[in-house]
Amino acid sequence: MTKRLALHGGTPVRAQLLPYGRQSICEEDIEALVAVLRSDYLTTGPAVETFERAFAEAVGARHAIAVSSGTAALHATMAALGLGPGDEVIVPAITFAATANAALFVGARPVFCDVDPDTLLLDPCAAEARITERTRAVVAVDYAGQPCDYDALARLCGKHGLHLVADACHSLGGTYDARPVGSLAELSAFSFHPVKMITTGEGGMVSTDSAEWASHVRRFRSHCMSRDYRDRDRAGTWSYDITELGYNYRLSDLQCALGTSQLRRLPGLIARRREIARQYDEAFSELRAVAPLKRTRSTGHAYHLYVVTIDPDRVRADRQTILKALKAEGIGVNVHYPPLHLLSLYQRRLGTRRGDCPRAESLCERIMSLPLFPDMTEADFTSVIAAVDKVFSHFGR
Ligand SMILES: *Cc1c(COP(=O)(O)O)cnc(C)c1O
Repeated sequence: MTKRLALHGGTPVRAQLLPYGRQSICEEDIEALVAVLRSDYLTTGPAVETFERAFAEAVGARHAIAVSSGTAALHATMAALGLGPGDEVIVPAITFAATANAALFVGARPVFCDVDPDTLLLDPCAAEARITERTRAVVAVDYAGQPCDYDALARLCGKHGLHLVADACHSLGGTYDARPVGSLAELSAFSFHPVKMITTGEGGMVSTDSAEWASHVRRFRSHCMSRDYRDRDRAGTWSYDITELGYNYRLSDLQCALGTSQLRRLPGLIARRREIARQYDEAFSELRAVAPLKRTRSTGHAYHLYVVTIDPDRVRADRQTILKALKAEGIGVNVHYPPLHLLSLYQRRLGTRRGDCPRAESLCERIMSLPLFPDMTEADFTSVIAAVDKVFSHFGR
């Protein structure tokens, strides 16, 4: 017996839309932020360094530099590596636009590479086939929170003399062979957007073991000035030089204080995400039309997203209809992401087209992300399961 779908005028499983992701803010977070409002510095004060130190320690890196967004973090990594016109950067076809845009910001060319069909992670073999004499770096994206195969990628980069950058915007708190994300590539970029693992409203971080790159990112986030206001105070001078083109990519003390408080909660937030993912796995093991993405054995998944693939042979509807039906039931499903090389900016600027990354193109027609965030209640969770059951028993075959 199937109930009438909300899409067809039936009663929705939920009255209010459940978003696919959402921040978790507690009293301590609020107090940490308010304390900065009462202090001397709203930006470029002591809360920045406190956050950076705690972050570096949490991810096992020598240096962490706070910046204003994950996009700024990626831009800063490209600039630190000195990439520019004539250089190529390999990026996976399935990622957020910022991964590729970071290369464009410095005048380099992003080269889209196909993904592993089971995990949607950058495929090292496909990456190798994209290497030319202009290739300078590979950006690995830990899609959905699952770290890439960093041993294979490091071998590949070592063999061809390339830099390895991690877009770790999904995977803070994850591990690869018991090593924390943030210590796995030469430079790693993080985002603190509200849907990510921890939040500062907007914000980002770069982690690296290199003092030279760390220092470049520090200058880059503040106009590449040769001396900041503290150095000038210490030296008793008002003069400074601008050595390169830099930006205002600073993260304020308000945001950093929130970040430090959130970072303290990271282990609990990750544990909760993993628990919800485990319950989803269990609940969906009976359904034949949907399957979660494959997990690799060597990684500790951070579960930024819970992504399932739909088996087109087992449903009598296209994905668009399924997404609409779930949305009508009150479930905030989402698609991460349309393959970048098919979006008009990249087609126009880079001449990319359909057929360039066939696995990404066909998989993106079958994936959807279900709501997953630490503050989901038991009732939220149950409503997702009920809606998925309802929609797939209607459209299933
Ligand atoms: C969120 C995200 C970014 C950009 O982060 P912002 O903080 O929104 O600028 C970059 N790459 C990936 C994979 C992301 O998910």
